[in-house]
Amino acid sequence: MARPAFKRILLKLSGEALMGSGQFGIDTAETDRIAGEVKRARDAGFELCLVVGGGNIFRGLAAAAKGFDRASADYMGMLATVMNALAVQNALERAGVDTRVQSAIPMATVCEPYIRRRAERHMSKGRVVIFAAGTGNPFFTTDTAAALRAAEMGCDALFKGTSVDGVYDADPKQVATAKRYESLSFSKVLSDDLKVMDASAVALCRDNGIPIVVFNIREQGNLAKVLKGQGVSTTVGG
Ligand code: UDP
Repeated sequence: MARPAFKRILLKLSGEALMGSGQFGIDTAETDRIAGEVKRARDAGFELCLVVGGGNIFRGLAAAAKGFDRASADYMGMLATVMNALAVQNALERAGVDTRVQSAIPMATVCEPYIRRRAERHMSKGRVVIFAAGTGNPFFTTDTAAALRAAEMGCDALFKGTSVDGVYDADPKQVATAKRYESLSFSKVLSDDLKVMDASAVALCRDNGIPIVVFNIREQGNLAKVLKGQGVSTTVGG
């Protein structure tokens, strides 16, 4: 599968990416480093918008397993993503990148509400838009929010930053002979239940022809490299 030329992408950052080597919360240095990755990509001429997760602070499903009401727990999870979005915004603005945060759950004193056409306008002015609060609905994930926003914003690809450099046939941290896929079809990811993103996110990308690029966000300079088609990654497509 030849790598398509990307101009506008959505970057999905899990909450865990912001933890650095910690076990919980936001690591400022790591958040600054990731902001540097986004800046480098932006400076290379790519248009970026971001969806941030909240798993470093609160996961609805985990709390529900301990007795929380699932919907309430999911709302708490969505609020956690807003905290992360503000942290990423702060880091980006310190790096000199103009940004806006838009939340799917309106909170006027904290950030803008999600308005697609307004987000579009921000992006056309070179701003990085950070989408917070997932889809705004419980029982969803920020992976699905990422696929949804990527479709709405007309993104050429959804970039999923992880701690490994692609999708493997076994866990590369456990199995030394694990093989990385260069490319994969949506149907293989779904039928083999490969842990790329959750199934509804993968199906949404498939239905809208948005490739998913899985790459290592922990490697310095890698986002811009992969965007230019030079780095190591796995592309899930057609
Ligand atoms: N969440 C939700 N609806 C959404 C997106 C997220 O209810 O559209 C909640 C859900 O409880 C989830 C939490 O927010 O566990 C944090 O998001 P996620 O687990 O996707 O974050 P990540 O794993 O990417 O850090």
